[in-house]
Amino acid sequence: MTVIKSINPYSGELLKEFNSLTEKEIQAKLSTGSVAFSIWKETAFEKRAELMNNAAKVLKENREKYARIISLEMGKVLKESLSEVDKCAWACEYYAEKASEFLQAEAIDLPDGKKAKVIHQPLGIILAVMPWNFPFWQVFRFAAPTLMAGNVGILKHASNVPQCSLAIEEVFTLAGFPTGTFQSFLIDSKTTTSLIEDDRIKAVTLTGSEKAGASVAAAAGKNIKKSLLELGGSDPFIVLKDADIRKAAETAVKARMINFGQSCIAAKRFIIEEEVYEEFLSLFVEHFRNLKQGDPMEEDSDFACMARPDLAEELYNQIDKSVKAGATVLYGGDKPEEGSALFQPAILTDIPTSAPGYYEELFGPVATIFKVKNAEDAIALANDSEFGLGASIWSEDKEKAENLASKIESGAVFINAMVASNPHLPFGGVKKSGFGRELSRYGILEFVNSKTVYLG
Ligand code: NDP
Repeated sequence: MTVIKSINPYSGELLKEFNSLTEKEIQAKLSTGSVAFSIWKETAFEKRAELMNNAAKVLKENREKYARIISLEMGKVLKESLSEVDKCAWACEYYAEKASEFLQAEAIDLPDGKKAKVIHQPLGIILAVMPWNFPFWQVFRFAAPTLMAGNVGILKHASNVPQCSLAIEEVFTLAGFPTGTFQSFLIDSKTTTSLIEDDRIKAVTLTGSEKAGASVAAAAGKNIKKSLLELGGSDPFIVLKDADIRKAAETAVKARMINFGQSCIAAKRFIIEEEVYEEFLSLFVEHFRNLKQGDPMEEDSDFACMARPDLAEELYNQIDKSVKAGATVLYGGDKPEEGSALFQPAILTDIPTSAPGYYEELFGPVATIFKVKNAEDAIALANDSEFGLGASIWSEDKEKAENLASKIESGAVFINAMVASNPHLPFGGVKKSGFGRELSRYGILEFVNSKTVYLG
């Protein structure tokens, strides 16, 4: 049996310990999930919507409590945790309102005069393997559409956020969902692989690293089950010479530093046209310096710490190797203390293609800044990455920006705005950022059987 520890990364304090589930408990929970599915799939949309709206209410009524759990376990500042809880309520309300419309049967008139229709039916138990960076939002982004479609969910959350995992299960219980509709499984990664083999699990979704994604998708593929992967990103943030540079620089710092940089859609590579490079850089550094480090629970803290000491160490190693390869540290970049999750944000320039800062994802508060000759070079550099999640382009010429957007290899491009997830918009990547889409109508259609019914 594995012991799962909840540790405050800011103070290093051990908050709680949990025993992982035994094999017997896993089997019992899977049976509960199967029974829940047989009831839930027959439950009318109106009832599902009522319960999903209840979940939004539970989140709103307990926003302080849940936000504190998030901040305590993974170190983000409380104001960000509060917005995260609010966003989860938004997703619940969005799908409560939209699910039945999204899943309505579609009539098809065939050329020979015959008719057919497509009906969208739930699949069964869907397994979600989720990360710690947005420990509530990533889960609700999965759960709201998946449950509204009539599936039931099992959550294998990251091992450093067990209290978040149990708190999310509590939300659905308090909202009145039938027992087993949403269950949290405190288990390790190895057990997750064997869970995927179980016949009762029909599909799996994972948000996390490339390595975890490859392993989970391989297990799903071996068992002929669908998987959806939402992996890393190294999003470009392109600033052209005709952009509103002040606004771009201010937004650029927000886009890099959200969640202390630990976001798949954080802007990571800043690609600036040479005419405005110096101006952008000096504004960027100014905004960057003004951010205040402090206790995650303090209102005026802009950032606190990384989610785990090993993540701080790994990020520092990427800086160190980049500097050895020839990159310049323009700001910050000190080595974190051993065993500490505290980290000093950094800005790198002059990054050679051989440096990790060029080709790897920097999952933390480190900005890499590149100077390019023109828009064409900016797009070439943006696409010179294994990842393809989001991208941001800044230009006052909207037509040019839209034209460039179509040339970027990514799942989303935001013009004159930072990349952000929104229940109304499909979310996902190409290349090594994964496959499949979450949110919007696209998201709810991922885990249904779109069945053709031919009317002869
Ligand atoms: P992981 O990808 O290891 O963890 C994400 C989730 O996958 C966790 O629930 C984890 O469980 C689980 N997991 C890991 N390996 C396996 C496996 N072989 N089989 C089944 N489940 C598995 O992320 P880390 O916490 O190690 O973070 C490392 C890097 O991952 C980051 O630096 C970043 O690059 C990327 N990442 C990307 C995220 C995103 O939003 N796209 C979010 C978080 C991380 P457990 O915790 O028990 O290992």
